[in-house]
Amino acid sequence: MARKLYRGSIIDVTFDGAVCQHAAECVRGMPTVFDTTKRPWIDPMQADTAEGAAQLREVVGRCPSGALLIGEHEEHR
Ligand code: SF4
Repeated sequence: MARKLYRGSIIDVTFDGAVCQHAAECVRGMPTVFDTTKRPWIDPMQADTAEGAAQLREVVGRCPSGALLIGEHEEHR
């Protein structure tokens, strides 16, 4: 499965479902952004404040598999 990009207003998140270990650190850590009942299930637009973006970076950093990565805007814009 290819890595997918989910755009936010401050930072983006990419996700590769092929390496996800379903540890649910993301869903537990920031349920407003990671909500498996929604499509798309990752919505970085919910982290649209400096505090939210900082929390999102931290939660993504806890992903044990590397499935989630942060995309800083200057990296691909
Ligand atoms: S934290 Fe990473 S490995 Fe765990 S469910 Fe989320 S994306 Fe998958």
